[in-house]
Amino acid sequence: MKAVVFQGAKEPLEVKEVDRPECDADGVVVETEACGICRSDWHAWQGDWSWIGMMPTPGLIFGHEPVGRIVEVGENVERFSVGDRVTNPFNLSDGTCPYCQAGRANICERSVPMGFIGFQPGAFAEEYPVRIADQNLVPVPEDIDAKDVAGLGCRFATAFHGVARRVDISPGDWVAVHGCGGVGLSAVHVASALGGNVIAIDIVSEKLDKATDLGAVETIDSTEVQDVPQAVKKLTDGSRGVEISVEALGIAQTIQDSVNCLAPGGQHLQLGMTTADEGGEVALPVDNIVQDEREFYGSYGMPPHEYEDIFRMMEGGKIDPSAIVSETCSLEEVPAVMERMGEYDTMGIPVCTEF
Ligand SMILES: [Zn+2]
Ligand SMILES: [Zn+2]
Repeated sequence: MKAVVFQGAKEPLEVKEVDRPECDADGVVVETEACGICRSDWHAWQGDWSWIGMMPTPGLIFGHEPVGRIVEVGENVERFSVGDRVTNPFNLSDGTCPYCQAGRANICERSVPMGFIGFQPGAFAEEYPVRIADQNLVPVPEDIDAKDVAGLGCRFATAFHGVARRVDISPGDWVAVHGCGGVGLSAVHVASALGGNVIAIDIVSEKLDKATDLGAVETIDSTEVQDVPQAVKKLTDGSRGVEISVEALGIAQTIQDSVNCLAPGGQHLQLGMTTADEGGEVALPVDNIVQDEREFYGSYGMPPHEYEDIFRMMEGGKIDPSAIVSETCSLEEVPAVMERMGEYDTMGIPVCTEF
């Protein structure tokens, strides 16, 4: 089968023939309908995240925002059959550890991120395997377009879990979103659907326009203001700051801006993972966090059962993840799209739909 293959950090990605995946007893093999192209793929390709033990080896197939139809089922799989249409969270869990048992499979003790480790290849390929299928697969309604399900993938799902489950948005709360890439725009959309008054911040005016389309009530072009936290505060009641602030990029400046634009008692939600410049560490105003009782929340992916909530909100017309899918491409074009991600030159969520 054809696949996009990693050759080494920063080396050109190659589209070539590889063996089709093997199906293990607890897993399935899925024929790919679509797979989102994510900044995390780009980070892994660049060799980032070695500080958290993420080091892809040559031969790896990226792609962790898949949807497809099952073509092979392992003998121990009970809930799924050949022909079922499925998706899965990028972070595959075991279903047995205390976190999985408590409904927090996204922080499973023995989690395996799809498309970052050799034994669980990703979906930039005609077929892909999914391990521990009964735990990880999610049935997908037939009437949702493949590209929209792929668009849900890690970015929309991560934003949904973070905004809807990790922090406490009440109707009318001010919510700042720093960075309007795929995950940031998703956060804008979900926070607005939950009643938040969203202030979107970015350096690209087209991305801010898109944020407005998705529900933001105010936007700030951070290249046009001296001090982003002050600009955000000025828009809020009594210039106190926002109740919730979401960081969706993973760079030091925006993380600091996000913590600094909070009102006393406010909650910072960290969705972005850092780049090589930060190496995982960012200086923060700890004393202000203490004195104002601000809170700092990490949020990582989404457990499989929350897909149901997303599908229900989509059916009810409350959210429309397809509005964030910006472009579609073929498998051959994936390396070129990944190249453009390095320049932050993609809008929303690009999805590969031809295999
Ligand atoms: Zn687990
Ligand atoms: Zn991703």
